[in-house]
Amino acid sequence: MAVPRATPTEESCTLSPTNDPWLLTPGPLTTSPEVKDAMLHDVGSRDTDFIALNARIRERLLRIVDGEARCTTVPLQGSGTFVVEAMLTTFLPPDGRLLILINGAYGWRMAKICQVAGLSYTTLEWPEDTPVDPDAVARKLEEEPHVTHVAVVHCETTSGVLNPIERVAEVVARRGRRLLIDSMSAFGALPLSAEQIAFDAVVASSNKCLEGVPGFGFCIADREALSNCQGNASSLSLDLFEQWTAMEGNGQWRFTPPTHALLAFDRALDAFEAEGGQEGRGGRYRENCRILVDGMRRLGFQTLLADEVQAPIIVTFHKPADERFDFDAFYDALRARGFVIYPGKLTVADSFRIGCIGQVGPQQMHHVLEAIERTLHNMQVVERAPKA
Ligand SMILES: *Cc1c(COP(=O)(O)O)cnc(C)c1O
Repeated sequence: MAVPRATPTEESCTLSPTNDPWLLTPGPLTTSPEVKDAMLHDVGSRDTDFIALNARIRERLLRIVDGEARCTTVPLQGSGTFVVEAMLTTFLPPDGRLLILINGAYGWRMAKICQVAGLSYTTLEWPEDTPVDPDAVARKLEEEPHVTHVAVVHCETTSGVLNPIERVAEVVARRGRRLLIDSMSAFGALPLSAEQIAFDAVVASSNKCLEGVPGFGFCIADREALSNCQGNASSLSLDLFEQWTAMEGNGQWRFTPPTHALLAFDRALDAFEAEGGQEGRGGRYRENCRILVDGMRRLGFQTLLADEVQAPIIVTFHKPADERFDFDAFYDALRARGFVIYPGKLTVADSFRIGCIGQVGPQQMHHVLEAIERTLHNMQVVERAPKA
């Protein structure tokens, strides 16, 4: 059954094909009509077609990161945080100790996961506008001989900063430690190869750069490393070793799979491959980001990050100093014009964020800039630079 598309009236140019606002956020994100359409079916979890679809998805995810030779894909129900928690608690052995590299909220969330799970951990911290520093990681590993694993966030979605995971991976591997990567907001859009980066596990989710609907996450795990993880997890449902061995056994999920989300995801991967895989997807997002940043600077806004460390995923802008700028009113006005943006979550500056990912392109970026310009005009905001 086809989803009716909105007729291209003047109104619909600011709404999605299903008449929804465009989600310029860190997630959930805008998905295509085709992806939503794929969910109009009920499938049984033991059905052979579904088992084949599940196997196909696992294979296709491996190929995105050149992981066929040494890795396996373990999908897991829940939002992205569930699979981050599953990764940390499955891969850390009882006598292990984790070093968490923190330059934003998602790094802090990993520390919280360790605290709740009672895992041994330590942290290295940087300001939110600064990438993690591999040299500091090297020094910390010399000082802390008991650290067995290091966890890093690929793109810290809190600010949009890109962390140098290649150089972090080198430092970690050279000192005989193991690397765990939260690539939630980068997977599929930024380069990441299991042949070039030594990691034990990488996690991401269905609804970020791969543009499926929310509902599950997945771990790309080194098979040998994962095979040593039996009994590590302290949770029944977030145990990636058990999830993996059960799935290898009969092709099924241990507990009710998010069948509709998987149907949608298979369709989303068709679109991903048709767009040219990571290079194509990353290229569209880079173009979105360039249009957005150039346009916002023309309007007088300043980005939090220097261009060299900005990932083309989400952009943080300083709030204008002008007292007439009110974020809630700004948000509501943009929402009325068909765009959902996101508040900032920074401790270093008053800010807001606009995402470049999801099923959006240059046209939406130009339109949101027009909407912002009109909104500022109506708010009579003249001075857009941040407070000195
Ligand atoms: C989105 C995201 C997550 C997961 O967040 P959920 O709200 O649980 O889906 C984890 N890490 C990063 C870097 C993210 O961008």
